[in-house]
Amino acid sequence: MSENRFNDVPFDSPIEPVRLQIDSKIKFNCYPGISCFNACCKQADITLAPYDIIRLKNRLGMTSTEFLKKHTVPFELDASGMPGVKMRTTDDEPVCLFMDEEKGCTVYEDRPTACRYYPVALLSSRKSDEYHDEQHYALVQESHCMGHKEDRELTVAEYRKEQQVEEFDELNRDYYRIILKKKSAGPAIGNPSPTSFQFFFLVSYDTDRFRQFLNSPNFLNVYDIPAEEFERIDNDDVERMKFGYRLLKQVLFGEQSIPLKEGAYDKRMEERKEILEARRELERKLAQEKDPIDEYIQD
Ligand code: SF4
Ligand code: SF4
Repeated sequence: MSENRFNDVPFDSPIEPVRLQIDSKIKFNCYPGISCFNACCKQADITLAPYDIIRLKNRLGMTSTEFLKKHTVPFELDASGMPGVKMRTTDDEPVCLFMDEEKGCTVYEDRPTACRYYPVALLSSRKSDEYHDEQHYALVQESHCMGHKEDRELTVAEYRKEQQVEEFDELNRDYYRIILKKKSAGPAIGNPSPTSFQFFFLVSYDTDRFRQFLNSPNFLNVYDIPAEEFERIDNDDVERMKFGYRLLKQVLFGEQSIPLKEGAYDKRMEERKEILEARRELERKLAQEKDPIDEYIQD
C-alpha cells in the first residue's frame, strides 16, 4: 500500500495509476475472507495527516508525543524539507504494526485516510490563486490486490462515502493547502528556517505538546484569544488542530489570521532587543576576523 498526495505521478509503483474523477466508476471489493486479505497491510507505506494522528492516539489512549515516538518515523514531504510522518512498520518488512493475521486491521474504525482510500488515492494540485486546490483521484492496481477482480462496480464518490473518508478529508484540507502553498510559493517566501519546521511539526502532529505551548506565557502574552474560544481550543484536539492551521498560516505566510494583543509585537521586540544586538555584535566580530580571501582559496 503506498501513498503520495503531492506529486503528479503519485506512486512509486511501476504500474501507471489510472486517473479518475469523482463520478468515475471503479470495479473493486474488499472483505475479510478475500484471498489476499492483509496483503496490502504487509506492504504499508502510510503517510499520516494531523487528523489521522488524533484518531489513532486517542484510540490507543496515548499522548501524541507517545504515539509519534512509538508508531511513526519522520520523513521529508518535499524538497524544502517540510517534515512529515509515516506509520512505523516492522523492522525487516513493511508490515503494519496494527495488522493482525486473523482479525485484519486492529484499529479499523480509526484507520488512517490512506488506508480508507486504498486502492484509490487523492491527488491535490494547487492553482496560482492562494488556497484554491483541485482534487483528482487515481486507481492503482497492484498485483497482490485481488479486489480488482471482484464483480462490484461503484463510483469514486460512493467508495469515499462507504469508507467514511469525507470527514478525514474535510479536517485535513487546510493542512494539505498549507503544504501545497509552501511548495508552490517556492523561494518567493524564502526557505523556512529549522525553527519554522519544528513549529510546523509541533502544530501539525504533536497536538499534546502544542497544547502546552498554547498555555505558555510566550503564546498568551502575544495572541489575543477570547477566553471561551481558548477553552475550546485547550480542551478539544480537533478544535486545537483547526486553530493550529490558522496559526501556521500566520507564522509561515504572514497572514493576519489571529489577532495580536495591543503593543505585543513592540513589547516582544523590545524584550528581544538585547539578544538581537548581541547576535549582530557577534556576527560583526566574526566577519572582521574572517579573511575574505578564504572564500576563494581551497586547501
Ligand atoms: S492501519 Fe490498518 S488498514 Fe492501515 S495498513 Fe495498518 S492494518 Fe492495514
Ligand atoms: S483486496 Fe486489496 S485492499 Fe483488500 S485486503 Fe486484498 S490487497 Fe488489501
